[in-house]
Amino acid sequence: MEIPFDNSYSRLPEEFYRKVDPAAVKHPTLIQWNQSLAKDLGIPFDANDSDTLAAVFSGNQAIPGATPLAMAYAGHQFGRFTKQLGDGRAHLLGEVLTKQGKRKDIMLKGSGATPFSRRGDGRSSLGPVIREYLLSEAMHALGIPTTRALAAVATGESVYRESRLPGGVFTRVADSHIRIGTFEYFSSRGMKDHLQALLRYACERHYPRALEGSPDELVDRFLAQVVEGQAALIAKWMSIGFIHGVMNTDNASVAAITIDFGPCAFMDQFAYDRVYSSIDRHGRYAYHNQKQIGLWNLTRLAEALLPLLPQSQDSIERLQAVLNRYEAVYQKAWRYLFARKLGVSEDCQNLDELIRLFLDALADESLDFTQSFLALAEVLLDQDTLLPKTPKLGQFIDRWQREIKNIEVAVTQIRQTNPRFIPRNHLMEEVIAAALIGDYEPFYQLLKRCLDPFGSKDGSRYELPPKPHEVVKATFCGT
Ligand code: AMP
Ligand code: MG
Repeated sequence: MEIPFDNSYSRLPEEFYRKVDPAAVKHPTLIQWNQSLAKDLGIPFDANDSDTLAAVFSGNQAIPGATPLAMAYAGHQFGRFTKQLGDGRAHLLGEVLTKQGKRKDIMLKGSGATPFSRRGDGRSSLGPVIREYLLSEAMHALGIPTTRALAAVATGESVYRESRLPGGVFTRVADSHIRIGTFEYFSSRGMKDHLQALLRYACERHYPRALEGSPDELVDRFLAQVVEGQAALIAKWMSIGFIHGVMNTDNASVAAITIDFGPCAFMDQFAYDRVYSSIDRHGRYAYHNQKQIGLWNLTRLAEALLPLLPQSQDSIERLQAVLNRYEAVYQKAWRYLFARKLGVSEDCQNLDELIRLFLDALADESLDFTQSFLALAEVLLDQDTLLPKTPKLGQFIDRWQREIKNIEVAVTQIRQTNPRFIPRNHLMEEVIAAALIGDYEPFYQLLKRCLDPFGSKDGSRYELPPKPHEVVKATFCGT
């Protein structure tokens, strides 16, 4: 069996990557295989070949046509620039074209050391593999641009973190793995030709229309596409209470997809400044900071692109003008999404105020973000809800109901926009604890729900917020 690879990244200049093979593991076993994604990608394996799948997607068995490599990139981490990061525990196997002609990266993660590993072991424990599988597929099912999960494999080896843990390898599929940090890598080294080559490559791959028009303004057109994509993406995160947790520029995709599911989380109890990541001590990447951080990251991209423009104040002003579009694109997307969540029309009176009023009411009582929006459908149907009867919520409900034109339409809109099933932190912890002792059944159960986020009530605990003793306060990247 073969994978129809067509590896364009490996045809870029050699400074873009280091060629390196995955390191074999002792005893790989398949945990999960994404058959429908494999089919889209034209990968002719199926779950019955679990031994072959485990061998190939652990890195044990080389696949004809693959050109394994570790990509070079730099990045601003928590505001501080590091000139050399790169894939320290991941191997890009190559690219395939989907039936629709879209190019996709296939990458192993946790597959061994590379020249970019620094002090890391190049490995991953099973926890982050399970987390990324659930989170990325949940995001996809929610309609949010994201990397995808193709396979999860247990290695049969141990990795050593704070304790000894079983190891895993995750196979990630992405529109590309080009990050803002990839641009920063060449820009910070003064490698202008490489920077130009990267710009062309990124445009060909993601924004071919930017290549039309005057070459002098290619930088502007490319930046505008990334600005618009990131603004829309982050508004979507906000609309589902997703907190990325490590919005460093090396984790910011120029294809504007969600990438790098480290200590990210779906928020349970609403707070504007909610933080879960144990490494985010000052709340830099808190829920309500994500919009500003998105723009901060894009500003780093603009700076990295500046050497491609004539050295002048005019060039700075040109790119600043492009960055200035961020606010409007974000606001438009945010209003649209939250109007849908409330079941009201976008041109309803004082929409922004109405949204704020509801969020403030949730914050005051630390109510569950996801369930509270969904409960609005029940309010309209005069059914019992989880929402308490506080003065602020009462005030909101009075004003909001006046904006509802058609109850049936609004109920449908609310139920189609607000998920019932999300990979909640406490469920994820249980799933991972079970997986660590070899029981994957809870993982399969949760995955089933995450693949159908807008499904109907099933009376299971998967749709419920955590009980007080189940609330998870901190998440760890565990890498
Ligand atoms: P992240 O915080 O996951 O975005 O990773 C930041 C950087 O650390 C990237 O360059 C990773 O490749 C590297 N890294 C993280 N964990 C490991 C590991 N176990 N071994 C080698 N490199 C790692
Ligand atoms: Mg990363």
